Amino acid sequence: MSTVYLNGEFIPKERAMISVDDRGFIFGDGIYEVVRVVEGRIFEWGPHAERLVRGLAGLRIALGTRDVSSLKDVSERLVRDNGLTEGEATVYLQVTRGAALRTHHFPPPDTAPTVYAIATRFVVPLAQRENGVAAITFPDFRWARCDLKTVNLLGAVLARQAAAEAGAYEAILLRDGVMTEGAATNAFAVIGGTIRTYPLSNYILPGITRKVVVELIADLGLALATDPVTQGQLVDVDELFLTGTTTDVTPVVTLDGKAVGNGRPGPTAKMLQEALTARMYATVGAAR
Ligand code: PLP
Repeated sequence: MSTVYLNGEFIPKERAMISVDDRGFIFGDGIYEVVRVVEGRIFEWGPHAERLVRGLAGLRIALGTRDVSSLKDVSERLVRDNGLTEGEATVYLQVTRGAALRTHHFPPPDTAPTVYAIATRFVVPLAQRENGVAAITFPDFRWARCDLKTVNLLGAVLARQAAAEAGAYEAILLRDGVMTEGAATNAFAVIGGTIRTYPLSNYILPGITRKVVVELIADLGLALATDPVTQGQLVDVDELFLTGTTTDVTPVVTLDGKAVGNGRPGPTAKMLQEALTARMYATVGAAR
């Protein structure tokens, strides 16, 4: 039976109940995070916490920096209490504006945010990392604050469903004729020896894995340009790959049913994938 955290309590998942008035349920009015746990240690907690604080500020949900910091202890306890200190796991954290009678504008200031967290076993899908995945292109009709990791995920849900129906793993989103990111990943292409990705802006999520991969690109002395890849260029890239907390660096080997490059995972993606795994295990102090 899994133990979860809800509003200050560690309780069996079956007993975790939220109100039907919760604004997360009614409006998608909340923020979430997913962190990776390796051998009981959280990878890149600091940047995840910073993004959570920034997201809460963006939505004007009053949960202080101190309360966000305490979620690290909450996460670590969930990992321990659920027997996940060996191998890999993820922790999902969510904060909504709380439960109040339905009004679009904010509820009374004394409305307590709803804070929820759950730890789950994560089995790294090695075959996907090794062999690559299929992707489709899909219109990016999400709102213009994609930099906030809100629980309102309809753009991603519809894009991922289209991908699933096409037998693909990810939908590569296109806005104004350029690739922004994946439905639940950041996207990179390699064109003529330069790695290209969409610049940080309100149109993409500032992925924590993206940040780490950008650092690894510099460490490895590879060339990076934060210039958007156009739809026209996308059909002729040498490599395409995705990054994310549960995706690591995953090569895309077919796009809309056509081979990307030579149809096999490319050297850049492989190199970055190995470097990411090495960094993940080194920074959490675990042997692989
Ligand atoms: N972009 C979107 C839209 C996402 O939903 C996610 C993760 O859920 C990412 C990128 C990757 O972000 P991270 O590396 O922080 O997991």
